[in-house]
Order: sequence, then C-alpha cells, then structure tokens
Amino acid sequence: MNTAVVLYTSDLRLHDHPPLRAALAACDRVVPLFVRDRGIERSGFAVPNRLAFLADCLADLDAGLRDRGGRLVLRSGNVVDEVCALVREAGAGQVHLAAGASGYAQHRERRLHEALRSQGCALHAHDAVITAVAPGAVLPKGKGADHFAVFTPYLRRWSEPPPRPVAAAPRAVRVPEDIGSEDLPRRSSLTGTSPGLARGGEGEARRMLTRWLRSGIARYEDTHDDLAADATSRLSPHLHFGTLSPVEAAARARTAGGPGAEAFVRQLCWRDFHHQVLAARPEAAARDYRPRRDRWRTGPGAEEEVQAWKDGRTGYPVVDAAMRQLRHEGWMHNRGRLLAASFLTKTLYADWRTGARHFLDLLVDGDVANNQLNWQWVAGTGTDTRPNRVLNPVRQGLRHDPQGRYVHRWVPELSGLSAPRVHEPWKLPAAERARLDYPEPLVDLAEAQARFREARQGA
Ligand code: FAD
Repeated sequence: MNTAVVLYTSDLRLHDHPPLRAALAACDRVVPLFVRDRGIERSGFAVPNRLAFLADCLADLDAGLRDRGGRLVLRSGNVVDEVCALVREAGAGQVHLAAGASGYAQHRERRLHEALRSQGCALHAHDAVITAVAPGAVLPKGKGADHFAVFTPYLRRWSEPPPRPVAAAPRAVRVPEDIGSEDLPRRSSLTGTSPGLARGGEGEARRMLTRWLRSGIARYEDTHDDLAADATSRLSPHLHFGTLSPVEAAARARTAGGPGAEAFVRQLCWRDFHHQVLAARPEAAARDYRPRRDRWRTGPGAEEEVQAWKDGRTGYPVVDAAMRQLRHEGWMHNRGRLLAASFLTKTLYADWRTGARHFLDLLVDGDVANNQLNWQWVAGTGTDTRPNRVLNPVRQGLRHDPQGRYVHRWVPELSGLSAPRVHEPWKLPAAERARLDYPEPLVDLAEAQARFREARQGA
C-alpha cells in the first residue's frame, strides 16, 4: 500500500485541487496535512483576523474530508521538520503541494525538496493552484525577461493560453488510521478579532461565488468603485486562503459572460500580475521595486499623523471611513484602499511600508503579493506607469460616495451632514463644526501636494 502526503498551505479546499487529485491518482492512501508553521508565526504574519478565518477554513476542510472518509491532520512546528517526520511515520513516498510565489514559499519549497530527497521521498509542486496562471508561465519577449512589469501586456498574454480544466472534488479520501493529529483551532478561542469579520471555509466560499455570479457580477463593471454600494464580490479572503480556486472562479465567471464578468476576470488577472512580480522579485515585499532617492517624511509630528490615519481621525471623511471599515471588518473596499494608501504615502508622505504593515495587521485577505505590491503601486515605487498621480480625498469622496452614505456608515459623527458638505466638514460655520466632535484636517491638501511635488522633483 503506498501513501502520499498533501501539504496544504494557501489552498484550503477540496474542489479544483490538483495536488490532492495527483496524490489520489498515484497512491492508495493520502495524508492531508496542515502545519501551523512557527516560521510564519514568528514573522508576525499570523494576526488574529487571519487566524480566526483560518480556523473556519481548517474546520470546514476537515469536515469535507470526513464526508469523504478522511480527515485533516494538523501539526505545529517547523514546517520542513513536521513534513519529514510525517513522511517517516506514514511511510509516504511522495509529497504534493501548491507552488507559492513569495520568497518564504519559494524557500520552503527548496528546503522541503532537499530534506525529502535525502529521505528518498519525491516532492511535487503544482502550478496554477494559488493563481490562475502560474508566475513565469507567460513572459514578455526579450532575453532574460523574468516577469511582466506592465499590466496591459500581461493581461493580453495571460488570457491567451487555454486555462487548465477545473478538477472536481474527490469522492473519497483514504487516510491511514494510525496518524495522530493535534486538535483543530477554534475561532471562538481567539481574541482581538474585528467585530465584523467574515466567515471562512470552502462551503462559504462556494456559496458566495454562486450568489455573486447569480446576482452581483452583472452590475460589477458599473458599480465596483461605488463605496456605499459595496458591490464587489468580497471573495478576496477566500482567494487568499485558497478556499476558492482562481481557475474555477475565472472559468465560472467566463461562463456567466457579460461586461461584468470580463471586468471581474480582469481583477483576477491583477492578482496573478502581482504574484508573478513577487515570484521574480521576492525582495519587493519589503524593498522598493523601483528605488527612489527622495526620503519619506519622518520628522516631528510624522508619527502622530500616521497614528491619526490608523485611527480614522485624519479629518478627511472618506479616508477616515475607509480606515474605520478596515478596523471593524478586517476588510476594506478597493477604492477605500486606494485612497487611504494614497493619503498616507502622497499626502502625509509616510513610508509605504508603515501603511502596508498596518493593513497586514488587520486585513483578513492580507497577502504579501497583493498588499505589498498594491502599496508600492500607489506609493509610486511599484509598477504604476504614473507614479506621481495623487488621489485627492475630497474629489474621490464626491465621485465615489456622492451621497455620503459610505461616510455616514463609518463616521457616525458626520451622519447628520448631507453631501457634498459631508466630504468637507471644515467648510461649515465654526459653531456647527465645534458640535461635531470630528477633527480638523490633519494637513492642508494644497500644502501637502506642494511638499510631494517638491520632494519628487528633487528625487
Ligand atoms: P473584487 O473587486 O470582487 O475582485 C475580485 C478579486 O480580484 C479580488 O477578490 C482579488 O483577489 C482580486 N483583485 C481585485 N483587485 C485587485 C488588485 N488591485 N490587486 C490584486 N488583486 C485584486 N487584495 C488582497 O487580496 N489582499 C491584500 O492584502 C490587498 N491589499 C491591498 C492594498 C492596497 C493599498 C490596495 C490598493 C489594494 C489591495 N488589494 C489587496 C487589492 C484589492 O483591494 C482587493 O483584492 C479587493 O478590494 C478585494 O475585494 P473583492 O474581493 O470584493 O474584490
């Protein structure tokens, strides 16, 4: 009887899971394994919101495996040591996992490869599990090019190859009986989570996708930037934890058809775009992708400004609404992310890494590729072809929250103000302003713009 181990990482599902399918095709018995990786915990990446969502995902994966006669095996420790120990225990001859893009995932794969080889066990890393198209699968023409730095040509090439077929969930998974497991973590035992945190798990992901395709996607092209309408899919945490396959999401959207589907698939391509940049430049998680000579602001008052931004007390209502949504839900609308990040990096002129860290502390979909490279994109150190563009928070508010409903939802101090005044409360008469318990603008926009331009010209 031969046995395989399937190491789950950011791919916590049964449907459309090539590593599991390959292991089941090759072996009689399979050990589905998740390791609470001490390396990730030490890096500060394991924060309450994502741990709570992860607990849901593991419980759901275990339930799905039990329905098929199997179960999930949980271990904690150094991921390479734990996999090697389990391989010995189960007498496994092969290990399957999804190939990852980050520096950490690449390093883990290399270490696993070496350690398993010395035990006579093969490692199979499967592409197009975490992303729809594997990093490096499409490349620009030209010698030595290892990734696309511009989105539009990437989108063209990304759409060319026929996607791999979507794999069905297995009917049965046979797990050796004598393999022990730790107890699965429970969401309810975690503290410090956001009160409005979404629920995790593959079942929830599949229900959300079905609902989205039936009644959300048709309006997506027209409403995806409308902050109050909240008319995006909210599938990002499921794509991050892999409870939803990006290949399947794209395939089902394409079947649904229409301009909304096209716009949605384009966003999935953005996700792959950032992953292929990170896979080729793992250091971009922390270092400027396009290094600049100007310096971020650090002097007197800079720290207090960043704190006010984190607290949703900048005095710019739409920025504050977005930052409060982040704290309450562990999630933020994309338009909110864009303007909150632009405000931090281009209005306050603070280092993008400070903002990216704060987002990673709270976002349930917090993802090294998408977070760090979107931050760099907004900050002008990344792949944006217009790095000096600055989003004006007042104009953004008027355009993307014309009735002020998003601000009313998240900044109750301003709920009595109608639009357009709700986006510029400092223009109210002083007596009215004093009654609001809402801060004056942290900085003057015109001054901040001048500061930004000056710094960039000197760079
Ligand atoms: P939809 O609009 O329904 O889009 C569908 C899917 O496409 C999303 O779930 C997501 O997986 C992908 N997607 C959409 N927009 C982008 C984008 N700009 N870049 C990459 N993928 C995208 N997304 C994350 O998943 N994790 C992050 O940590 C993250 N940090 C961000 C930080 C900043 C500063 C900015 C500007 C954007 C960030 N994004 C991040 C991208 C985007 O904001 C979210 O993916 C999106 O808001 C999630 O909502 P949704 O699922 O309703 O998206």
